[in-house]
Amino acid sequence: MPKLRSLCVYCGAQAGHDPAHRAAAEELGRLLARQGTELVFGGGRVGLMGILADACLAAGGRVVGIIPRRLYTIEIAHAGVSELVVVDNMHERKRRMVERASAVAVLPGALGTLDETMEVATWRQIGLHDLPIGILDIGGYWQPLLALIDHAIAAGYGPDALRDYFTVADSVPALLATLEAAPAPRFAFQDRWA
Ligand code: AMP
Repeated sequence: MPKLRSLCVYCGAQAGHDPAHRAAAEELGRLLARQGTELVFGGGRVGLMGILADACLAAGGRVVGIIPRRLYTIEIAHAGVSELVVVDNMHERKRRMVERASAVAVLPGALGTLDETMEVATWRQIGLHDLPIGILDIGGYWQPLLALIDHAIAAGYGPDALRDYFTVADSVPALLATLEAAPAPRFAFQDRWA
């Protein structure tokens, strides 16, 4: 049994300009396959999402895509995944992705990735889950976000503990190591959602 049963990954629907980001998505896909951790992602074949899923599948991994009906053609649903779940809307996508995860990872991305990351963090804040959230900070990509969270804490809008929701790593192996070292979830997200 792998330490991480399943990893929910948020990342860009674009591939970005930095080849290091694409390489990291590929490396993560490959390593998840190698260690037998299921990948749960947004289900598209575009951008970093597609690169990540393709690398995991090519290495023999199990990949679950969760895509809203409306995005099926826009994000070009990945036909080659092990399981493709088509849901009614964005909110259901986010809920279903977290339901299936034993940890969450954030790769570079833009508004969608930020939305997903903030939502899963706020769900943790209100006690809906206690999954670790690992930020892959390749080349300092996420430093502005981490600085903004620190700024909010310093301004009195959140406890220092907010920062503990996020583990930050600058390489894929370090990301997986920090997620595996995190305490195992103590309860199931779906039990608290209702
Ligand atoms: P982006 O980081 O903007 O490239 O978006 C990455 C992924 O987030 C894409 O698959 C988007 O469809 C997805 N996304 C954007 N907004 C939402 C939302 N409100 N709920 C769930 N997923 C979203």
